[in-house]
This record gives sequence, structure tokens and C-alpha cells, in this order.
Amino acid sequence: MSYPETYYASTAINAAPRPTLNDDVSVDVCIVGAGIAGLSCALELLEQGKSVAILEREAVAWGASGRNGGLVSPGWAQGNDALEKKLGLSHAQQLFELSVQGVEQIKANIERFALAGCQLKTGRLSVSRYRKKQIIIDRQRTMLDKYQYPQDYLDTDQVRQICRTQRYFDGLYDANSFHFHPLNYCLGLASVIEQKGGLIYEQSGVANISTDQHKVLVGVAQSSAKVSCEDVVFCGGGYSGKEIQALQRSYLPIATYMLLTQPLGDLAAQLISRPYSISDDRRAADYYRIVEGDRLLWGSRITTDNQDNVGKLSSLLREDLCSVYPQLQEVKIDKAWSGLMAYAGHKMPIVQQQQPGVWICSSFGGHGLNTGTICGVKVAQGICAINQDYQLLSPFGCDWNGGILGPMVANMTYKYLRLKDKIQESAI
Ligand SMILES: Cc1cc2nc3c(=O)[nH]c(=O)nc-3n(C[C@H](O)[C@H](O)[C@H](O)COP(=O)(O)OP(=O)(O)OC[C@H]3O[C@@H](n4cnc5c(N)ncnc54)[C@H](O)[C@@H]3O)c2cc1C
Repeated sequence: MSYPETYYASTAINAAPRPTLNDDVSVDVCIVGAGIAGLSCALELLEQGKSVAILEREAVAWGASGRNGGLVSPGWAQGNDALEKKLGLSHAQQLFELSVQGVEQIKANIERFALAGCQLKTGRLSVSRYRKKQIIIDRQRTMLDKYQYPQDYLDTDQVRQICRTQRYFDGLYDANSFHFHPLNYCLGLASVIEQKGGLIYEQSGVANISTDQHKVLVGVAQSSAKVSCEDVVFCGGGYSGKEIQALQRSYLPIATYMLLTQPLGDLAAQLISRPYSISDDRRAADYYRIVEGDRLLWGSRITTDNQDNVGKLSSLLREDLCSVYPQLQEVKIDKAWSGLMAYAGHKMPIVQQQQPGVWICSSFGGHGLNTGTICGVKVAQGICAINQDYQLLSPFGCDWNGGILGPMVANMTYKYLRLKDKIQESAI
């Protein structure tokens, strides 16, 4: 299976196909899914001396991890305020710290393994689409006082010097966040995993997982071959199926969209004068950055209806893009694509040992690069009995996703939130 037609696939390096699982294999740990969570887990396990096999239905980072916005910043899909309300300040602080470790882990991996083609650029600007100066100043203080996380406050003039649009008002600049090429990062990690003796099988979709007293057997759909192991870690993200029933009932696959413009020439630097990623404060934020010097990579919208029609996606996203930069009305769209994220009702990852030998590490929502990374690492450390940090996620279990009504409720909620955004923005 080739990669979907994305900007990342067209600039991927080192994406040679890998073998399918045709013969039985015996390892310490089998990982299902070669997204950022599965790869991060595998790398940590290998570094702790375990033998590892990864089974991937398509290809390394074929799912969300290889087609996302590439914005890496601290936090979770669920906000700090909601976490603090549910768990108390100390637990929320520990979770935030874990999310920061995820950011640092990616940076460290790129440097340590000299991963090629990752195009890491630092800096993230979060902007407001309506006037709320005091709220932003308060947020900056809260992040510093409660979470020891510094960000710079930028007033409307400063924001508009960076983003030449009347749409934006005040903002926060985060020098610790960065953006990068997530597919090349994952492909790089996969090579490191293989260099360390890890096995990666592509076109090897897991159809069943069975356990007995002594081992776990993981069977693929493509052949009768099996992986026999002590532990299996399920990292199927939004592309999971019925492999683990409790998980299937606990999340919704939510689609979100991206587009890449054709080269904008000098206009790119005129519109966005710094190499930062930008995201706004809409409920399902618009986020973007300049890639390849003068192309705009733009992401927005969420829906439970996975849209693959490039023409339709382009016109939907162009509408959002032009509402911020009307100067781009005539711009040509080079590529548009969609991807699936796994969202649990509580908007937090499901990270747990479901039964002896069977682990789940999934559902990172739209904030999965740092969180998928660190949760993968923490599950590996849990398996190796190094620590029990993964238990910080234990309050977020396999809650019911609403069954057939789940997608309808999610779509209605999103439409309601978009309406709230519009009302707030039009009241300027
Ligand atoms: C368009 C888009 C933009 C996004 N932007 C950002 C962003 O800027 N910043 C951010 O932090 N997050 C972002 N996200 C979210 C982030 O990409 C995901 O949360 C994260 O990549 C999830 O990683 P994962 O490893 O859990 O899942 P995935 O990357 O989806 O990997 C799961 C893998 O498991 C495989 N699989 C599933 N079932 C089986 C099976 N039975 N057998 C074998 N293999 C199986 C799939 O083929 C897939 O390759 C975005 C997501 C999308 C879709």
C-alpha cells in the first residue's frame, strides 16, 4: 500500500517497503501499529533490552502520524483547566509535565539519532480571533505560576506584525514548541528500531489477539503466521477496528483535514513574517505554517465523516484560509488530504494494561505527537517494571463512546462550537 497523496509523502525519505509477516516469530513484545505511539514504545523497549516486533496494517506512519500538522507542543487534547477540575492541581501538573517530556523526547531523538529530513523549526504563536487581552494575560500567568511553563505575551500590533491579517488580536509565543516533518521523523525512528534489532512488518494487519497462561498470540489477516510474545501493545489510533472490543466501544474516529498551497513566492513572507507555527483559538483550531520556504500548510475542521474528495476538501479549507488571509483568494491548491484521529469521550488517551499481557496505548486525539510519544515510552517502562508513570492516565478508561449515536452527537457538538466561534468573532 502506498502512502496517501500528502505533502509529507511527496517529500519522504527512506520510505522503502518492509516485509509482510509470513512466518511465526517469537519476541518479548509485539506492537500493533507503527504510528508515533507504537514506534516510540518499540524504541524504548529495545533500549531496555527487550526484543520487539511491530505489525503494521499498511506502512510505517501511514496513519495520522505521517499526515498531521507537524506541530509539537505541550499539553493534551483535553485542556489543563478540565484536568485540574477532574483530578486536582497536583495530578494535572504531573500530566502537564509528562506532556512536556513528550516534546523534549522528540527533540532529543532527532538530535541523538541524527534523523534526516525532519526540518525542525522552533516557535509557536497562539493567537486570538477576538479581543480577549486580559484572558490571554491571565492564561500566560497561570501557565507560569501553576505549570512553570513560560510564554511571551504579544499584543495585537505585535501579532499583526507576524501575521498580516486583521483577523487576529493578542497572542502567546511559545519558544519551546516546534514544528517538523512527522513522516520523516517516524521513518527515521523505524530505521533506528531496525538497527537495534527490532522487526517491522508492513501489510500485516492484526486480526486477532489471544492469550493463555504463558503467552500472547497475535495473528495477522494476510497469512496464518503469528507473533508469540509476553506482552502486546495495541497502538492502532483512529484506524483501529474490532481487535480489542473494549477499545472499539470507547473512541470515535474523527477526521480532520489539511491542504498545501502552491508556492506563494514573496507573498509567503509578507503574510507570515516568522518561521513559527500559528494556531488560533477556535474550538477546533485552524493551524498552519510555511513549508518549503513559501508554501502554506493549513489544517482545520473536524468531522466524523471521513472526506477523501480532494476537490471538496480544497474548497472547504480554502474558505477557512481566506477568512484569515483574503489575499490568498486566487491561490492554487497543490494537495489536500484527510486523516483520522482517535478521540475518547474524555478527550484523553487510553493507556492501560487491559489484562495480563495486553496493553492499550491509543486515542491521542488532535494532540498526539508529544502525547503519543511519551505514552509509548511510559508503557514500555511499565512493561519493563522501571516505573508506573503510565498510571497517571488511569482515571481515563474505556468509557462508552455513545454507540451509533456517538458520531451524530460529535458532529452536532462540533457544529454548535463553530456557531459559538462565529458569534464570538462577529461580536468584535
Ligand atoms: C490531519 C491531522 C492533523 C493533525 N495535526 C496534529 C498536530 O499538528 N500536532 C499533534 O500533536 N497532533 C496532530 N494530530 C494528531 C496526531 O497526528 C495523532 O494523535 C497521532 O499521530 C496518533 O498516533 P498513533 O500512533 O496513536 O496513531 P496513528 O499514527 O494513526 O497510527 C496507528 C497505526 O496503526 C495501524 N493499525 C491500526 N489497526 C491495526 C491493526 N489491526 N493491525 C496493524 N496495524 C494497525 C494503522 O495503519 C496506523 O498506521 C493530527 C492528526 C491528523 C489526522
